[in-house]
Amino acid sequence: MDIMAATMLLQLEQENSRLKAQLENLLREGRRSEDRMRRLDRIERQLIAADSLSEMVLLLLSEYRSAFGVEQVTLILIDSEQVLGKLLSDHPQSAIPSRLCPTLLPAAGTIQGLYGPELAPWLGRYQHQRHSALFHSPVIGIESVALLPLVRQRELVGSLHFGSRNPERYGASSGTEFLERFAGIVSVCMESALNRDRLRGISLTDGLTGVQNRRYFEQRCKIEVSQAKRHQLPLSCMFLDVDRFKFVNDTYGHPTGDDVLRTVAAAIQSLLRLGDTVARYGGEEFVVTLPRTDQPGAREIAERIRRDIEARTFQTQCGKAIKLTISIGLTMLDSQQISGDHQAAASQLVVQADKALYQAKNGGRNRVEWVDFSF
Ligand code: GH3
Ligand code: MG
Ligand code: MG
Repeated sequence: MDIMAATMLLQLEQENSRLKAQLENLLREGRRSEDRMRRLDRIERQLIAADSLSEMVLLLLSEYRSAFGVEQVTLILIDSEQVLGKLLSDHPQSAIPSRLCPTLLPAAGTIQGLYGPELAPWLGRYQHQRHSALFHSPVIGIESVALLPLVRQRELVGSLHFGSRNPERYGASSGTEFLERFAGIVSVCMESALNRDRLRGISLTDGLTGVQNRRYFEQRCKIEVSQAKRHQLPLSCMFLDVDRFKFVNDTYGHPTGDDVLRTVAAAIQSLLRLGDTVARYGGEEFVVTLPRTDQPGAREIAERIRRDIEARTFQTQCGKAIKLTISIGLTMLDSQQISGDHQAAASQLVVQADKALYQAKNGGRNRVEWVDFSF
């Protein structure tokens, strides 16, 4: 992990301890109705324990609704960095049904008006013109609503809405402290879950190139092998190594070498499909899994990458344009040959692709070679 990622990790960890302390303060605050509090307490504990944003959102939007018997619970999240969509879809084990998906907005402007400058909760009768866009349509049977701003560092980061059939449930006269406190807990938990998502992302990504790292690849490859075996689908693996890369470092310096690695990684990534995985395996070596891809398919993709690198010109730090090539080794899993040990099969897949790469190097570089899988 490079220094930048390590610093970010440290910052996120410190931030998480701060959030934990704030959370404990909020939890210490007064509690009123026993029964309601017990139910709320259970949900809050689940929220605090949630390991990812998607798990948290799912809890909030489904559990709260059934525990408190409200008609609808909806959520808007401000996604100024445009990362939440990916985070929410990244965890298939806690997949959010589309009808429950939070609405993501690029800026808080449109919901700011719901709360005024104080960013205080709003409780009262449902007004179709003001509130229908906040709930799932058709909005039937909602008589009163509670609109809760989610605030972090005095910024509006989201908006949580409860819609009840009972016209008296949420009213201007009903106390807002318990809802306010709940919104505070949701905001802190959300930030903490987001940080955990970010930490997870950093520890599985290569700091220099932004593609996955070897650790991620090893986990992923095992999953791909088991799926290929279970569904009897082809799985190809590609090992790529930049030719004479040491020369680039020695002649133009390490920063130019780093630029080349970033460009090569982006080029490989851009020529793959959504389900393919590319990782930096080490130094100037990359590895790719190509699910549902047989020998002709894998060769075609590998050739496309080889030609792309060959056709490019790379800029050195001193402004010179240089040319480079890449060698690629390929193999394809033979699921007949493997037993239940998917870990061993995944390792063997990489070993065989590396063997093919060795042949490409020996054959003169800037070429694609194939080795049949054997275990
Ligand atoms: P070949 O065609 O046989 O692959 O030759 P090569 O020069 O590419 O291979 P070799 O393994 O001799 O050199 C790889 C070089 O990659 C050596 C190492 O200093 C460099 N390297 C490894 N990691 C990094 C990195 O993160 N940044 C930079 N700039 N260079 C790196
Ligand atoms: Mg190498
Ligand atoms: Mg090399």
